[in-house]
This record gives sequence, structure tokens and C-alpha cells, in this order.
Amino acid sequence: MTNLSESLRKKLKENFDLHVFKIIQKQVSKDGTKKYLFDVLDNNAIESVLMEYKYGKTICVSTQIGCKMGCKFCASTGVKFARSLEAGEIVEQLLAVERDENIKISNLVFMGIGEPLDNYENVMKAIKLLNHPKGINMGARHISISTSGIVPNIYKLADENIQCTLSISLHSSSNEKRSEMMPINNLYNIQELMEACKYYIEKTHRRISFEYALAKDNNDNLQDAKSLAELLKGMLCHVNLIPINEIKDGKFNKSTNENIMKFRDYLNAHGIVATIRRELGSDIDAACGQLRKKEVSK
Ligand code: SAH
Repeated sequence: MTNLSESLRKKLKENFDLHVFKIIQKQVSKDGTKKYLFDVLDNNAIESVLMEYKYGKTICVSTQIGCKMGCKFCASTGVKFARSLEAGEIVEQLLAVERDENIKISNLVFMGIGEPLDNYENVMKAIKLLNHPKGINMGARHISISTSGIVPNIYKLADENIQCTLSISLHSSSNEKRSEMMPINNLYNIQELMEACKYYIEKTHRRISFEYALAKDNNDNLQDAKSLAELLKGMLCHVNLIPINEIKDGKFNKSTNENIMKFRDYLNAHGIVATIRRELGSDIDAACGQLRKKEVSK
């Protein structure tokens, strides 16, 4: 920008970063889902996924390079944690995909690599940039944050007074089983998590979405459905059932379609609204829990 004075250019360089990601790889699924591997310019790479729904285009963004949560069924777990993403790097994932596809994205989910509530300040800043009329101008109701359950930050989020959708990765209603799947449960157990969720609903009047990945002979029988219905009874919520995606070396297998439908029907018959999430992009490893940073060498 030689039309700016040298001193101003120096000031800009010292104070701001321009994040323009390079696309290292782009894969297109049979169902139209697209997965991007971006070069984030410091020898690291992240993945983002673009999905088409009836109501518009949704981007699934990463919040960290790697993840510290260690969920046993998730491919991001195998990735060494490098660092958290800055707010600009979170928003740039949307901008880079919009530029590449020449489209407008209407929804954003924080469901890629990383734990959004473990990168709280940058995620909040990114939401403000997404939200702002002079930024992306995306309504908060078009944004979903998914968390493995970092309880203190759920309280913090509830007090922010923003209208995002909160998704909780629950996956079991038994502390014993949940701790086996998700080490974070040893730090904040289901009862503490539910208290935080109730506070969130009370403050925001927003319905919480509970994610439940069904694994064969693990958390998918009718006894599990019964205890889940009891746990969520009377709560303003919705259950999103995900047929678990099998990952390399993972010990969890996908439930049968019959069990998945029985599980859903049990919940619906017992006052809990439950739907089965459509699987998108599984042929390009872009489905839930399949995202994994590839090593990039320059
Ligand atoms: N760290 C956040 C967001 C990223 S994961 C969280 O835990 O919520 C997005 C969702 O995909 C979470 O619900 C997560 O539990 C789920 N997920 C991870 N691995 C999966 C797998 N193999 N099959 C199905 N869902 C999975």
C-alpha cells in the first residue's frame, strides 16, 4: 500500500496482522460438503467444513490447532496441541471459503477442531466481529457454540447476553461412562454440567442442544435412553443424536440404524425432542469428530 505514508505502514505492520489463508487442499464430498485445509501462515494448518442445508450454507470452524480435551472417540485428539486461534483467524475461515466459492454463508458452528470454551476470549471476539453490522453482520441466532463442558465458562457465556445456540457434547447420562469417553467429566461431572445448563437457559431463555453420539454396546441401549430422559426431564432442550463416526484406532463402533431409531423414538415418547443428525461429508473425513490437522511442511 504505497499510497500510505511509510510511518503509517510501519504502524500498521507493528499493530495488525493480515490473515489471508492459503488453501492447501480442498475436498468435495458426494453430498456437496466441502472440506478445506488452510495454511495459517506459521507452519500450522487447520480444517473448516462447508455444508449445504435447506436453510442455507453453514460453515464449521476450528477454534484451536489441536485440542486438549482428549475425548476418546474424536480424531482431533490425536493431534498435538499447537495453539489457540486468534479471533481474526476464526473469522478468516468464513471469509476464505466465501471468497473461494463466491457465496454468502448464513450460519456458523464452532464444531471444528478445538474446544471453543478453552479459547474463550478469542471466540467471544470472533462472535462480536461476526455479529457486527460493519463486520460479517451475521445474527447471533445463526451461530452455535459446542462445548465438551467447561462449566465455569458456560456460566460466563450465560452472562454475556448474546443469543447464540449452545450445544453440549453430553454423550452419556452416566458419570462412569461419560468419564470413560470424555476425560473432562472427571473435572466437571454431569450434575455440575446440568446446573450450568439450567443457569444458561434461565439467563438466555434459549433452548440448549445436547449432542449424543451413539456407540454400539456402549451408550445406545434403552436403559441409556431412559436415564437420559430422566436427566433432561423438564429442561428447555433438544437432543441431537449422532451416529458415532468410527475413527482410526478408535474403540467405539457405530450403533445400528435400528438402535438409533429406537433410541430416538424412546426419547420422543418420553417428552424429550430428539432428532438424528444427517451425516455429511463422511467420505472425505469431514463428518463430526473426523477433522484432524494434517502436518504441513514448508
Ligand atoms: N470441542 C467441542 C467442539 C468440537 S467437536 C465439543 O466437544 O463440543 C463437535 C462435536 O462432534 C461434539 O459434539 C463432539 O463430541 C462430536 N464428535 C467428536 N468426535 C465424534 C465422532 N467420532 N463421532 C460423532 N461425533 C463426534
